[in-house]
Amino acid sequence: MSERRHDVVIIGGGSAGYAAARTARDAGADVAIVDHGPLGGLCILRGCMPTKTILRSAEILALMKRAREFGLAPVTAQADLSAIVDRKNRLVQEFADYRIAALRDPRFTLYESRAEFLSPHVIRAGEVRIRGGAFVIATGSSAADVWIPGLDEAGYLTSDEMLDVRRPPASLLVLGGGLVAVEFAQFFARIGTKVTMLQRGATLLSDMDEDIGQALAAVFQDEGIEVITGVSFQRVTSTPSEKTMHFVQGGVVQTRSAEVIFQALGRRPNLKGLNLELAGVQVIDGRLMVGGDMRTTQPHIFAVGDVNDLTPIVHLAIQQGETAALNAMHPTEPARVVDHRLDTEVVFTEPQVAVAGMSERQCREQSIPYLTASYPFADHGKAMCLGTAHGFVKLLCRPDNGVLLGAQIVGPEAGELIHELIAVMYFHGTAQDLLRIPHYHPTLAEIVTYPAESIVEQMGRS
Ligand SMILES: Cc1cc2nc3c(=O)[nH]c(=O)nc-3n(C[C@H](O)[C@H](O)[C@H](O)COP(=O)(O)OP(=O)(O)OC[C@H]3O[C@@H](n4cnc5c(N)ncnc54)[C@H](O)[C@@H]3O)c2cc1C
Repeated sequence: MSERRHDVVIIGGGSAGYAAARTARDAGADVAIVDHGPLGGLCILRGCMPTKTILRSAEILALMKRAREFGLAPVTAQADLSAIVDRKNRLVQEFADYRIAALRDPRFTLYESRAEFLSPHVIRAGEVRIRGGAFVIATGSSAADVWIPGLDEAGYLTSDEMLDVRRPPASLLVLGGGLVAVEFAQFFARIGTKVTMLQRGATLLSDMDEDIGQALAAVFQDEGIEVITGVSFQRVTSTPSEKTMHFVQGGVVQTRSAEVIFQALGRRPNLKGLNLELAGVQVIDGRLMVGGDMRTTQPHIFAVGDVNDLTPIVHLAIQQGETAALNAMHPTEPARVVDHRLDTEVVFTEPQVAVAGMSERQCREQSIPYLTASYPFADHGKAMCLGTAHGFVKLLCRPDNGVLLGAQIVGPEAGELIHELIAVMYFHGTAQDLLRIPHYHPTLAEIVTYPAESIVEQMGRS
Protein backbone atom coordinates (compact mmCIF):
# COMPACT_ATOMS: atom_id res chain seq x y z
CA MET A 1 0.00 0.00 0.00
CA SER A 2 1.45 3.39 -0.99
CA GLU A 3 1.55 6.30 1.44
CA ARG A 4 0.82 9.96 0.64
CA ARG A 5 0.70 13.11 2.73
CA HIS A 6 -1.55 16.17 2.46
CA ASP A 7 -2.00 19.24 4.66
CA VAL A 8 -5.79 18.91 4.79
CA VAL A 9 -7.77 15.77 3.96
CA ILE A 10 -11.48 16.19 3.29
CA ILE A 11 -13.64 13.07 3.55
CA GLY A 12 -16.73 13.64 1.40
CA GLY A 13 -16.98 16.04 -1.54
CA GLY A 14 -20.58 17.29 -1.13
CA SER A 15 -21.55 20.88 -0.35
CA ALA A 16 -19.80 20.97 3.03
CA GLY A 17 -16.69 19.08 1.95
CA TYR A 18 -16.24 21.01 -1.27
CA ALA A 19 -16.55 24.34 0.60
CA ALA A 20 -13.88 23.18 3.05
CA ALA A 21 -11.61 21.96 0.24
CA ARG A 22 -11.88 25.18 -1.77
CA THR A 23 -11.28 27.36 1.29
CA ALA A 24 -8.22 25.37 2.44
CA ARG A 25 -6.80 25.36 -1.10
CA ASP A 26 -7.31 29.12 -1.46
CA ALA A 27 -5.48 29.55 1.85
CA GLY A 28 -2.50 27.72 0.36
CA ALA A 29 -2.95 24.14 1.58
CA ASP A 30 -2.20 20.94 -0.29
CA VAL A 31 -5.73 19.47 -0.17
CA ALA A 32 -6.97 15.92 -0.77
CA ILE A 33 -10.64 15.01 -1.21
CA VAL A 34 -11.73 11.43 -0.63
CA ASP A 35 -15.18 10.48 -1.91
CA HIS A 36 -16.51 7.03 -2.82
CA GLY A 37 -19.16 8.55 -5.09
CA PRO A 38 -21.43 9.00 -6.79
CA LEU A 39 -19.79 12.41 -6.99
CA GLY A 40 -21.97 15.50 -6.74
CA GLY A 41 -23.35 15.44 -3.20
CA LEU A 42 -26.86 15.11 -1.82
CA CYS A 43 -28.03 18.65 -2.60
CA ILE A 44 -27.41 18.19 -6.31
CA LEU A 45 -28.14 14.50 -6.74
CA ARG A 46 -31.01 13.71 -4.35
CA GLY A 47 -31.80 16.82 -2.27
CA CYS A 48 -32.40 20.50 -2.94
CA MET A 49 -32.06 20.69 -6.71
CA PRO A 50 -34.08 17.68 -7.92
CA THR A 51 -36.90 18.44 -5.48
CA LYS A 52 -37.09 22.08 -6.48
CA THR A 53 -37.12 21.06 -10.15
CA ILE A 54 -40.08 18.70 -9.82
CA LEU A 55 -41.96 21.08 -7.50
CA ARG A 56 -41.88 23.72 -10.23
CA SER A 57 -43.81 21.39 -12.57
CA ALA A 58 -46.48 20.82 -9.91
CA GLU A 59 -46.70 24.57 -9.24
CA ILE A 60 -47.34 25.32 -12.92
CA LEU A 61 -49.90 22.52 -13.10
CA ALA A 62 -51.75 23.88 -10.06
CA LEU A 63 -51.82 27.36 -11.62
CA MET A 64 -53.06 26.02 -14.96
CA LYS A 65 -55.93 24.32 -13.16
CA ARG A 66 -56.97 27.76 -11.85
CA ALA A 67 -57.17 29.27 -15.36
CA ARG A 68 -60.87 30.10 -15.13
CA GLU A 69 -60.34 32.11 -11.91
CA PHE A 70 -58.00 34.42 -13.87
CA GLY A 71 -60.44 34.90 -16.76
CA LEU A 72 -58.75 32.39 -19.04
CA ALA A 73 -60.34 29.59 -21.02
CA PRO A 74 -59.85 26.42 -18.96
CA VAL A 75 -57.18 24.01 -20.18
CA THR A 76 -56.85 20.31 -19.60
CA ALA A 77 -53.69 20.23 -17.55
CA GLN A 78 -52.25 16.84 -16.71
CA ALA A 79 -48.90 15.75 -15.33
CA ASP A 80 -46.60 13.40 -17.21
CA LEU A 81 -44.45 12.22 -14.31
CA SER A 82 -42.00 10.39 -16.54
CA ALA A 83 -41.33 13.61 -18.46
CA ILE A 84 -41.00 15.54 -15.19
CA VAL A 85 -38.40 13.01 -14.03
CA ASP A 86 -36.57 13.31 -17.37
CA ARG A 87 -36.38 17.09 -17.02
CA LYS A 88 -35.16 16.71 -13.44
CA ASN A 89 -32.50 14.20 -14.50
CA ARG A 90 -31.23 16.51 -17.27
CA LEU A 91 -30.82 19.41 -14.89
CA VAL A 92 -29.28 17.28 -12.12
CA GLN A 93 -26.74 15.91 -14.61
CA GLU A 94 -25.81 19.47 -15.61
CA PHE A 95 -25.34 20.58 -11.99
CA ALA A 96 -23.43 17.38 -11.13
CA ASP A 97 -21.10 17.71 -14.13
CA TYR A 98 -20.18 21.20 -12.97
CA ARG A 99 -19.46 20.03 -9.40
CA ILE A 100 -17.53 16.95 -10.59
CA ALA A 101 -15.33 19.14 -12.80
CA ALA A 102 -14.62 21.33 -9.75
CA LEU A 103 -13.69 18.26 -7.65
CA ARG A 104 -11.39 17.02 -10.42
CA ASP A 105 -9.61 20.40 -10.54
CA PRO A 106 -5.90 19.49 -10.64
CA ARG A 107 -5.30 21.83 -7.72
CA PHE A 108 -6.89 19.11 -5.52
CA THR A 109 -5.94 15.47 -5.26
CA LEU A 110 -9.15 13.46 -5.58
CA TYR A 111 -9.24 9.87 -4.29
CA GLU A 112 -12.39 8.14 -5.50
CA SER A 113 -12.76 5.58 -2.76
CA ARG A 114 -14.21 4.96 0.69
CA ALA A 115 -12.25 6.47 3.58
CA GLU A 116 -11.63 4.85 6.93
CA PHE A 117 -9.42 5.99 9.77
CA LEU A 118 -6.43 3.80 10.68
CA SER A 119 -5.23 6.19 13.41
CA PRO A 120 -5.85 9.85 14.40
CA HIS A 121 -3.51 11.04 11.61
CA VAL A 122 -3.88 8.36 8.93
CA ILE A 123 -6.77 7.17 6.79
CA ARG A 124 -6.98 4.45 4.22
CA ALA A 125 -8.54 5.26 0.84
CA GLY A 126 -8.56 2.10 -1.26
CA GLU A 127 -4.94 1.02 -1.68
CA VAL A 128 -3.51 4.32 -0.40
CA ARG A 129 -2.63 5.31 3.15
CA ILE A 130 -3.07 9.05 3.52
CA ARG A 131 -1.44 10.97 6.32
CA GLY A 132 -3.05 14.33 7.01
CA GLY A 133 -2.19 17.41 9.01
CA ALA A 134 -5.92 17.97 9.56
CA PHE A 135 -9.08 16.11 8.53
CA VAL A 136 -12.55 17.37 7.72
CA ILE A 137 -15.29 14.74 7.93
CA ALA A 138 -18.10 15.74 5.55
CA THR A 139 -19.74 12.41 4.79
CA GLY A 140 -23.34 13.67 4.92
CA SER A 141 -26.46 11.75 5.94
CA SER A 142 -28.84 9.06 4.74
CA ALA A 143 -32.54 8.44 5.28
CA ALA A 144 -32.92 7.09 8.82
CA ASP A 145 -33.94 3.48 9.38
CA VAL A 146 -36.95 3.54 11.65
CA TRP A 147 -38.40 0.55 13.33
CA ILE A 148 -42.16 0.23 13.09
CA PRO A 149 -43.38 -3.39 13.25
CA GLY A 150 -44.23 -4.64 9.76
CA LEU A 151 -42.85 -1.59 7.91
CA ASP A 152 -39.82 -3.33 6.39
CA GLU A 153 -41.94 -6.30 5.33
CA ALA A 154 -44.59 -4.05 3.75
CA GLY A 155 -41.90 -2.04 1.98
CA TYR A 156 -41.52 1.71 1.71
CA LEU A 157 -39.75 4.38 -0.30
CA THR A 158 -37.47 7.14 0.96
CA SER A 159 -36.86 10.49 -0.74
CA ASP A 160 -34.03 8.87 -2.73
CA GLU A 161 -36.45 6.52 -4.48
CA MET A 162 -39.40 8.91 -4.61
CA LEU A 163 -37.39 11.09 -6.99
CA ASP A 164 -37.30 8.31 -9.57
CA VAL A 165 -40.94 7.18 -9.43
CA ARG A 166 -42.27 7.47 -12.99
CA ARG A 167 -45.91 6.45 -12.44
CA PRO A 168 -47.80 8.41 -9.78
CA PRO A 169 -49.17 6.00 -7.18
CA ALA A 170 -52.95 6.10 -6.79
CA SER A 171 -52.47 6.77 -3.09
CA LEU A 172 -49.57 7.65 -0.79
CA LEU A 173 -49.08 7.52 2.97
CA VAL A 174 -46.46 10.05 4.02
CA LEU A 175 -44.86 9.24 7.36
CA GLY A 176 -43.49 12.48 8.83
CA GLY A 177 -44.21 16.19 8.58
CA GLY A 178 -40.79 17.80 8.14
CA LEU A 179 -39.35 19.70 5.19
CA VAL A 180 -38.86 16.65 2.97
CA ALA A 181 -42.26 15.16 3.85
CA VAL A 182 -44.30 18.27 3.06
CA GLU A 183 -42.55 19.04 -0.24
CA PHE A 184 -43.12 15.54 -1.63
CA ALA A 185 -46.66 15.35 -0.19
CA GLN A 186 -47.76 18.46 -2.06
CA PHE A 187 -45.95 17.45 -5.24
CA PHE A 188 -47.69 14.07 -5.45
CA ALA A 189 -51.08 15.46 -4.39
CA ARG A 190 -50.91 18.06 -7.13
CA ILE A 191 -50.13 15.52 -9.83
CA GLY A 192 -53.13 13.43 -8.86
CA THR A 193 -52.13 11.07 -6.03
CA LYS A 194 -54.42 10.79 -2.99
CA VAL A 195 -52.08 11.79 -0.14
CA THR A 196 -52.41 11.20 3.59
CA MET A 197 -49.81 12.64 5.96
CA LEU A 198 -49.23 10.98 9.33
CA GLN A 199 -47.16 13.20 11.58
CA ARG A 200 -45.95 12.37 15.09
CA GLY A 201 -45.60 16.04 16.14
CA ALA A 202 -48.50 18.30 17.05
CA THR A 203 -48.22 20.24 13.76
CA LEU A 204 -46.50 19.95 10.40
CA LEU A 205 -42.96 21.41 10.52
CA SER A 206 -43.07 20.87 14.27
CA ASP A 207 -39.57 22.33 14.84
CA MET A 208 -41.05 25.71 13.95
CA ASP A 209 -43.68 27.85 15.71
CA GLU A 210 -47.09 26.19 15.66
CA ASP A 211 -48.88 28.84 13.58
CA ILE A 212 -46.60 27.97 10.65
CA GLY A 213 -47.48 24.28 10.54
CA GLN A 214 -51.15 25.09 11.13
CA ALA A 215 -51.25 27.54 8.21
CA LEU A 216 -49.59 25.02 5.90
CA ALA A 217 -51.92 22.20 7.02
CA ALA A 218 -54.95 24.39 6.26
CA VAL A 219 -53.74 24.90 2.67
CA PHE A 220 -52.89 21.22 2.30
CA GLN A 221 -56.35 20.22 3.48
CA ASP A 222 -57.91 22.66 0.96
CA GLU A 223 -55.87 20.92 -1.74
CA GLY A 224 -57.24 17.54 -0.66
CA ILE A 225 -54.29 16.28 1.40
CA GLU A 226 -55.38 14.60 4.61
CA VAL A 227 -53.13 15.77 7.47
CA ILE A 228 -53.25 13.80 10.71
CA THR A 229 -50.97 15.03 13.51
CA GLY A 230 -50.13 13.78 17.01
CA VAL A 231 -49.87 10.24 15.70
CA SER A 232 -48.21 7.29 17.42
CA PHE A 233 -47.33 4.56 14.91
CA GLN A 234 -48.27 1.01 15.94
CA ARG A 235 -47.66 -1.40 13.05
CA VAL A 236 -47.98 -1.86 9.32
CA THR A 237 -49.85 -4.64 7.54
CA SER A 238 -50.06 -5.21 3.83
CA THR A 239 -51.76 -7.01 0.98
CA PRO A 240 -50.32 -7.24 -2.55
CA SER A 241 -52.17 -4.06 -3.52
CA GLU A 242 -52.14 -1.97 -0.37
CA LYS A 243 -50.22 -1.13 2.82
CA THR A 244 -52.01 -0.14 6.01
CA MET A 245 -50.63 1.89 8.89
CA HIS A 246 -52.21 1.25 12.27
CA PHE A 247 -51.76 4.22 14.58
CA VAL A 248 -53.14 5.88 17.67
CA GLN A 249 -54.29 9.47 17.61
CA GLY A 250 -56.11 11.14 20.49
CA GLY A 251 -56.34 7.78 22.27
CA VAL A 252 -58.16 6.20 19.33
CA VAL A 253 -56.72 3.40 17.19
CA GLN A 254 -57.08 4.24 13.51
CA THR A 255 -55.84 2.99 10.15
CA ARG A 256 -55.05 4.53 6.79
CA SER A 257 -54.12 2.55 3.67
CA ALA A 258 -52.32 3.42 0.46
CA GLU A 259 -50.52 1.89 -2.49
CA VAL A 260 -47.15 3.34 -1.42
CA ILE A 261 -45.62 4.37 1.91
CA PHE A 262 -43.14 7.25 1.83
CA GLN A 263 -40.99 7.11 4.95
CA ALA A 264 -39.78 10.64 5.72
CA LEU A 265 -39.04 10.28 9.41
CA GLY A 266 -35.62 11.90 9.42
CA ARG A 267 -32.01 11.26 8.50
CA ARG A 268 -28.96 9.77 10.21
CA PRO A 269 -25.30 10.82 9.89
CA ASN A 270 -23.06 8.71 7.63
CA LEU A 271 -20.57 7.45 10.22
CA LYS A 272 -20.58 3.75 9.42
CA GLY A 273 -17.20 2.36 8.37
CA LEU A 274 -15.23 5.51 9.21
CA ASN A 275 -13.60 3.79 12.22
CA LEU A 276 -13.92 6.93 14.30
CA GLU A 277 -12.81 4.99 17.38
CA LEU A 278 -9.36 4.53 15.77
CA ALA A 279 -9.26 8.28 15.20
CA GLY A 280 -10.10 8.93 18.84
CA VAL A 281 -13.21 10.89 17.84
CA GLN A 282 -16.05 10.59 20.31
CA VAL A 283 -19.56 9.76 19.12
CA ILE A 284 -22.36 10.18 21.65
CA ASP A 285 -25.66 8.33 21.05
CA GLY A 286 -24.76 7.93 17.38
CA ARG A 287 -24.16 11.68 17.01
CA LEU A 288 -20.89 13.33 16.09
CA MET A 289 -20.73 16.38 18.33
CA VAL A 290 -18.81 19.48 17.30
CA GLY A 291 -18.05 22.86 18.86
CA GLY A 292 -18.79 26.18 17.17
CA ASP A 293 -15.31 25.93 15.59
CA MET A 294 -16.42 22.63 13.97
CA ARG A 295 -13.81 20.61 15.89
CA THR A 296 -14.67 17.13 17.08
CA THR A 297 -13.13 15.79 20.28
CA GLN A 298 -9.87 15.55 18.29
CA PRO A 299 -8.63 19.13 17.73
CA HIS A 300 -7.23 18.37 14.24
CA ILE A 301 -10.39 16.55 13.07
CA PHE A 302 -13.42 18.61 12.06
CA ALA A 303 -16.96 17.54 11.11
CA VAL A 304 -19.18 19.66 8.87
CA GLY A 305 -22.54 19.44 7.11
CA ASP A 306 -25.21 16.81 7.69
CA VAL A 307 -22.77 14.47 9.45
CA ASN A 308 -22.66 16.63 12.59
CA ASP A 309 -25.50 17.27 14.99
CA LEU A 310 -26.34 20.80 13.73
CA THR A 311 -29.03 21.92 11.22
CA PRO A 312 -28.86 19.90 7.95
CA ILE A 313 -29.21 22.77 5.48
CA VAL A 314 -26.88 23.50 2.59
CA HIS A 315 -25.80 27.10 3.10
CA LEU A 316 -25.06 26.26 6.74
CA ALA A 317 -23.06 23.21 5.62
CA ILE A 318 -21.02 25.50 3.36
CA GLN A 319 -20.47 28.00 6.17
CA GLN A 320 -19.33 25.17 8.44
CA GLY A 321 -16.96 23.81 5.77
CA GLU A 322 -15.34 27.23 5.31
CA THR A 323 -15.02 27.73 9.07
CA ALA A 324 -13.45 24.29 9.57
CA ALA A 325 -10.96 24.86 6.76
CA LEU A 326 -9.83 28.22 8.15
CA ASN A 327 -9.43 26.75 11.64
CA ALA A 328 -7.51 23.80 10.21
CA MET A 329 -5.19 26.19 8.37
CA HIS A 330 -4.63 28.53 11.31
CA PRO A 331 -4.60 26.31 14.42
CA THR A 332 -2.74 28.82 16.58
CA GLU A 333 -5.02 31.76 15.80
CA PRO A 334 -8.23 32.38 17.81
CA ALA A 335 -10.80 29.94 16.44
CA ARG A 336 -13.42 31.18 14.03
CA VAL A 337 -16.90 30.05 15.05
CA VAL A 338 -20.11 29.65 13.06
CA ASP A 339 -22.66 32.31 13.98
CA HIS A 340 -26.13 30.78 14.32
CA ARG A 341 -27.91 34.11 14.85
CA LEU A 342 -29.10 34.18 11.24
CA ASP A 343 -29.91 30.48 10.80
CA THR A 344 -32.53 30.22 8.10
CA GLU A 345 -34.75 27.48 6.74
CA VAL A 346 -36.94 27.53 3.66
CA VAL A 347 -39.58 25.00 2.67
CA PHE A 348 -40.55 25.06 -1.01
CA THR A 349 -44.20 24.16 -0.73
CA GLU A 350 -46.90 26.53 -1.95
CA PRO A 351 -47.21 28.67 0.09
CA GLN A 352 -43.50 28.64 0.83
CA VAL A 353 -42.28 28.75 4.41
CA ALA A 354 -39.20 30.73 5.43
CA VAL A 355 -37.88 31.33 8.92
CA ALA A 356 -34.78 33.20 10.02
CA GLY A 357 -33.31 34.01 13.40
CA MET A 358 -35.28 33.27 16.53
CA SER A 359 -38.73 31.71 16.81
CA GLU A 360 -41.27 32.58 19.48
CA ARG A 361 -40.66 29.15 21.00
CA GLN A 362 -36.91 29.79 21.27
CA CYS A 363 -37.51 33.23 22.81
CA ARG A 364 -39.83 31.71 25.41
CA GLU A 365 -37.45 28.83 26.18
CA GLN A 366 -34.52 31.22 26.59
CA SER A 367 -36.59 33.84 28.47
CA ILE A 368 -35.82 36.46 25.83
CA PRO A 369 -38.42 39.25 25.89
CA TYR A 370 -39.93 40.05 22.50
CA LEU A 371 -42.71 41.91 20.77
CA THR A 372 -44.39 40.24 17.83
CA ALA A 373 -46.79 41.22 15.08
CA SER A 374 -48.00 39.44 11.99
CA TYR A 375 -49.85 40.47 8.85
CA PRO A 376 -51.82 38.19 6.52
CA PHE A 377 -51.18 37.98 2.77
CA ALA A 378 -54.99 37.81 2.41
CA ASP A 379 -55.08 41.56 3.19
CA HIS A 380 -52.09 42.46 1.04
CA GLY A 381 -52.94 44.12 -2.29
CA LYS A 382 -50.16 42.61 -4.41
CA ALA A 383 -50.81 39.09 -3.12
CA MET A 384 -54.50 39.57 -3.96
CA CYS A 385 -53.60 40.69 -7.52
CA LEU A 386 -51.46 37.57 -7.89
CA GLY A 387 -54.14 35.32 -6.44
CA THR A 388 -51.71 33.95 -3.84
CA ALA A 389 -53.18 35.17 -0.60
CA HIS A 390 -52.36 32.36 1.87
CA GLY A 391 -50.15 32.84 4.91
CA PHE A 392 -48.59 35.71 6.84
CA VAL A 393 -45.43 37.57 7.73
CA LYS A 394 -44.49 37.58 11.40
CA LEU A 395 -41.73 39.62 13.00
CA LEU A 396 -40.15 39.28 16.44
CA CYS A 397 -38.36 42.32 17.86
CA ARG A 398 -36.72 43.41 21.09
CA PRO A 399 -39.22 45.48 23.13
CA ASP A 400 -36.65 48.09 24.22
CA ASN A 401 -35.12 49.09 20.87
CA GLY A 402 -37.01 47.24 18.12
CA VAL A 403 -33.99 45.18 16.98
CA LEU A 404 -35.24 42.36 14.77
CA LEU A 405 -34.74 38.98 16.49
CA GLY A 406 -36.52 36.74 14.04
CA ALA A 407 -38.80 36.62 11.03
CA GLN A 408 -41.21 34.04 9.72
CA ILE A 409 -43.05 34.00 6.44
CA VAL A 410 -45.67 31.61 5.15
CA GLY A 411 -46.66 32.85 1.73
CA PRO A 412 -45.80 33.52 -1.90
CA GLU A 413 -42.05 33.76 -2.57
CA ALA A 414 -41.31 33.46 1.16
CA GLY A 415 -37.86 32.05 0.34
CA GLU A 416 -37.01 35.23 -1.57
CA LEU A 417 -38.77 37.71 0.76
CA ILE A 418 -36.95 36.42 3.85
CA HIS A 419 -33.65 37.75 2.51
CA GLU A 420 -34.56 41.38 3.18
CA LEU A 421 -35.22 40.43 6.79
CA ILE A 422 -31.98 38.44 7.00
CA ALA A 423 -30.12 41.50 5.72
CA VAL A 424 -31.77 43.73 8.32
CA MET A 425 -30.90 41.22 11.07
CA TYR A 426 -27.32 40.95 9.77
CA PHE A 427 -26.89 44.67 10.36
CA HIS A 428 -28.74 44.48 13.73
CA GLY A 429 -31.52 46.57 12.15
CA THR A 430 -34.86 47.40 13.73
CA ALA A 431 -38.58 47.52 13.02
CA GLN A 432 -38.08 51.29 12.62
CA ASP A 433 -35.47 50.61 9.89
CA LEU A 434 -37.99 48.46 8.02
CA LEU A 435 -40.32 51.47 7.94
CA ARG A 436 -37.54 53.82 6.74
CA ILE A 437 -36.26 51.51 3.98
CA PRO A 438 -38.15 52.38 0.76
CA HIS A 439 -40.42 49.62 -0.51
CA TYR A 440 -41.75 49.78 -4.06
CA HIS A 441 -45.52 49.58 -4.52
CA PRO A 442 -47.19 47.26 -5.30
CA THR A 443 -44.80 44.45 -4.36
CA LEU A 444 -44.92 41.41 -2.13
CA ALA A 445 -41.89 42.84 -0.30
CA GLU A 446 -43.78 45.83 1.07
CA ILE A 447 -45.83 43.49 3.29
CA VAL A 448 -43.01 43.52 5.90
CA THR A 449 -43.77 47.17 6.68
CA TYR A 450 -47.18 46.31 8.20
CA PRO A 451 -46.01 44.09 11.08
CA ALA A 452 -43.06 46.48 11.53
CA GLU A 453 -45.52 49.36 11.94
CA SER A 454 -47.50 47.39 14.47
CA ILE A 455 -44.34 46.65 16.50
CA VAL A 456 -43.33 50.32 16.50
CA GLU A 457 -46.83 51.18 17.76
CA GLN A 458 -46.54 48.58 20.52
CA MET A 459 -43.17 50.06 21.53
CA GLY A 460 -44.76 53.51 21.72
CA ARG A 461 -47.46 52.20 24.05
CA SER A 462 -45.07 50.47 26.48
C1 LIG B 1 -35.11 15.51 -0.34
C2 LIG B 1 -34.21 16.56 0.26
C3 LIG B 1 -34.40 17.90 -0.07
C4 LIG B 1 -33.56 18.87 0.47
N1 LIG B 1 -33.79 20.18 0.14
C5 LIG B 1 -32.99 21.14 0.66
C6 LIG B 1 -33.18 22.50 0.31
O1 LIG B 1 -34.07 22.85 -0.47
N2 LIG B 1 -32.35 23.43 0.86
C7 LIG B 1 -31.36 23.08 1.73
O2 LIG B 1 -30.63 23.97 2.21
N3 LIG B 1 -31.15 21.79 2.07
C8 LIG B 1 -31.93 20.81 1.55
N4 LIG B 1 -31.70 19.51 1.88
C9 LIG B 1 -30.56 19.18 2.75
C10 LIG B 1 -29.23 19.24 1.98
O3 LIG B 1 -29.34 18.48 0.80
C11 LIG B 1 -28.09 18.73 2.85
O4 LIG B 1 -28.08 19.49 4.06
C12 LIG B 1 -26.73 18.89 2.19
O5 LIG B 1 -26.75 18.42 0.86
C13 LIG B 1 -25.66 18.13 2.98
O6 LIG B 1 -24.40 18.32 2.40
P1 LIG B 1 -23.14 17.51 2.96
O7 LIG B 1 -21.95 18.07 2.24
O8 LIG B 1 -23.15 17.52 4.43
O9 LIG B 1 -23.37 16.00 2.54
P2 LIG B 1 -23.41 15.32 1.08
O10 LIG B 1 -23.69 16.28 0.02
O11 LIG B 1 -24.29 14.13 1.23
O12 LIG B 1 -21.91 14.83 0.83
C14 LIG B 1 -21.37 13.71 1.46
C15 LIG B 1 -20.35 13.07 0.55
O13 LIG B 1 -19.59 12.14 1.30
C16 LIG B 1 -19.34 10.98 0.52
N5 LIG B 1 -19.08 9.90 1.50
C17 LIG B 1 -19.91 9.42 2.46
N6 LIG B 1 -19.27 8.50 3.22
C18 LIG B 1 -18.00 8.41 2.74
C19 LIG B 1 -16.86 7.64 3.11
N7 LIG B 1 -16.85 6.80 4.16
N8 LIG B 1 -15.74 7.78 2.38
C20 LIG B 1 -15.69 8.63 1.32
N9 LIG B 1 -16.75 9.40 0.94
C21 LIG B 1 -17.87 9.29 1.65
C22 LIG B 1 -20.60 10.82 -0.32
O14 LIG B 1 -20.34 10.10 -1.52
C23 LIG B 1 -20.98 12.28 -0.60
O15 LIG B 1 -20.46 12.75 -1.84
C24 LIG B 1 -32.51 18.50 1.35
C25 LIG B 1 -32.31 17.16 1.68
C26 LIG B 1 -33.15 16.20 1.14
C27 LIG B 1 -32.92 14.75 1.50
